[in-house]
Amino acid sequence: MAKRPVGCAIGNLRNGPAAERLGAIRFFGVECIEPQFDIDAFDADDEPFVHAARDQFKQARLSVWSVHAPFGLEVDLSSADTAIRARGTAAVKRAARGAAFLGAGVMVVHCGDLCGSNQDRQGPLERSKEALSEILTACDGINVRIALENLPPGRLTCEAEELMSVVTAFPADRVGVCLDTGHANIAGTLNSLMDAVSSRIITVHLHDNDGSEDQHLVPGDGTIDWQMVRSALDSSPYDGPLMFEVDRPGAYAEMMVDVMKTAEWFANWNTHTFPRRKY
Ligand SMILES: [Zn+2]
Repeated sequence: MAKRPVGCAIGNLRNGPAAERLGAIRFFGVECIEPQFDIDAFDADDEPFVHAARDQFKQARLSVWSVHAPFGLEVDLSSADTAIRARGTAAVKRAARGAAFLGAGVMVVHCGDLCGSNQDRQGPLERSKEALSEILTACDGINVRIALENLPPGRLTCEAEELMSVVTAFPADRVGVCLDTGHANIAGTLNSLMDAVSSRIITVHLHDNDGSEDQHLVPGDGTIDWQMVRSALDSSPYDGPLMFEVDRPGAYAEMMVDVMKTAEWFANWNTHTFPRRKY
């Protein structure tokens, strides 16, 4: 596999990194980013803000590969509450317009953030599909694909089967999967999930953890078998960037060095040894 571009999820666009941080990301070799939209992002009132963000990214020579749509209980697309669902659908539609404005070709969306394991899951899945259909119609004419993310245990679409039941209800050129390695590691299903979603991956969130909770560690600092992830990704049709969704408070530069070493290994795994392994 040729060397993939390196990307970084930069978090909430509104409270996200200052311009200096963007410059630093580029300095380390990152070429693209994934900002996240607020629930009320890209209202008409926010236009100057989004224009400023676009200028900042351009100045730092960072392209926007993807955006993360708003998520959470207030905007849950699978909610039984009509008002919440409507708010969520509107928020994700706005994010789609924001994505197109920033030049992103992919928008990461959560099917649903509620849903404990013993609850009815069919109802939420159906409601989520309905909301996504509406969002997709709104995306007609803009070049933004929807990437449905595998979520951590206790949420809708943690299981591959559930995720694929929604993904395969839509055309492959419009809806795919955002493979989140950290979430699948908590669920203990990374291997089988990668197998099941392989043909539909259109973006990734690469991060590690010890299997207990979301920790957004750099690959190698947790328990994920990265050789397995690398091999599964390389044998999938996915040819996009390695989008890292990592954080190491207080040690940003050091973290970026480790991220770039990991990316280097992804491209040269047959001649390089994996740069770090804590477990
Ligand atoms: Zn993620």
